Amino acid sequence: MVPRLKRPLKVPFLLKEDFMVYQNQRGTYDAFDEEALNIENVVETLKDIVKFYGYNPIHTPLYEQTELFARTSGESSDIVTKEMFTFIDKGGRNITLRPEVTAGVIRAIVNNKLYATKDLPLKYYYYGPTFRYERPSKGRYRQFNQFGVECVGVNSYLSDVETISLGFNALQTLGFENIVLKINTLGDEESRKNYQVALREFFKDKIQNMCDDCKRRYETNVLRILDCKDPEDQEIIKDAPKMKDYLNENSKEYFTKVISLLDEQQIPYEIDDNLVRGLDYYSHVVFEYHYYLKDGTSIGAIGAGGHYDNLVSEIGGPALSSVGFAIGIERVNTLLKELMPESLEKTSLDVYIIHMGEETLQTSFILMQELRNNCFKVDMCLENKSLGQQFKIANRKNAKFALIIGENEMKSYVYPVKNLKTTVQEEVDYHDLIDYLTNKIVFEEEEEC
Ligand code: AMP
Repeated sequence: MVPRLKRPLKVPFLLKEDFMVYQNQRGTYDAFDEEALNIENVVETLKDIVKFYGYNPIHTPLYEQTELFARTSGESSDIVTKEMFTFIDKGGRNITLRPEVTAGVIRAIVNNKLYATKDLPLKYYYYGPTFRYERPSKGRYRQFNQFGVECVGVNSYLSDVETISLGFNALQTLGFENIVLKINTLGDEESRKNYQVALREFFKDKIQNMCDDCKRRYETNVLRILDCKDPEDQEIIKDAPKMKDYLNENSKEYFTKVISLLDEQQIPYEIDDNLVRGLDYYSHVVFEYHYYLKDGTSIGAIGAGGHYDNLVSEIGGPALSSVGFAIGIERVNTLLKELMPESLEKTSLDVYIIHMGEETLQTSFILMQELRNNCFKVDMCLENKSLGQQFKIANRKNAKFALIIGENEMKSYVYPVKNLKTTVQEEVDYHDLIDYLTNKIVFEEEEEC
């Protein structure tokens, strides 16, 4: 016997011959409603914090000439050799979507001679998309957003510590309690050169057994071998000479000052001898912020940065020591969702206006606009719907109050206002409406907090 279907079969959606389903590109994502709201909240919190440290916003283009990144990140960096989205535009220019933001910020500072017209250090924060052609995984996208700061034009360990603690405090404010700050020094140019000689010597008879990337790094920038994630290579790397044994007096003293001021401020850190960072422009202090989940796993650094001395002069400006970091917004958001799902904000409304019949639509609409002008978040259904349907929508939209307008209410100017959480309903005169909602929404909520 043929089993009877409980529900009728749905008629399959018929595809037109030329119909095509467009998917977002690999390594990209769509965010909407709660997800998008929480990303925006993270960014707003970060903006609020950096303003306490004297930072102003800077906006730079999403694309620059390829040469800028090749020059600043280093021809041999992973970013430049493997990860850039590069194309020739219609005018024949070689263009790259920014794989990081620092180079563009420094270019803008040099082009606009900001170092000559403003007090140093220049302190800028930025937020926006960055593009890297990486293998997508959890917390790793091809288009992702960075929030970062650059403090340009002061050569003092104080600005390094200020910047490191800013990132640390910002992540704490976002809710990360046990941030692990990893820190290392790459020393000054002289120290780095001596260290590179020692590393070349160490890897000379081992490099043929290491991965292809390491072989390339051995030729182009031996320091980067320390960054290799291949487990077999890491076994070899752990016995490599350490930077700290090749620091000259000046570099040692600089790093000691940074470390003791971090101690003084009770900012916990781990010195990681193998932390070198992927870009060519760093000197002295480099750092990363990590967060480990209870099972000990991590989705990679949530933020990272370092001190740089030659970047401004490298692209035509004066020699200006600088320091900065970038925080990956997607990684922050992924972790917050996992760690504190209950604390994430839901999309909501203050009032949902519920109308009863065609005649009440326009009055409802005018009242909605009036309430919006008085800073309440209000919405309504713009076509006739049943009372039940409208209440369902009000609940789905997390409205705090439903304000009901029928023909009688239109005439009397007295509206039933229902608290959708407690279900308590009160009659409110039109003239008292703003005060009533202000008391209920602003003051009573503050008391609840
Ligand atoms: P970096 O410039 O590589 O030090 O990156 C700074 C921060 O951006 C990292 O600590 C991550 O949080 C974030 N980030 C880097 N690459 C990616 C990626 N492919 N997807 C998502 N976030 C990333």
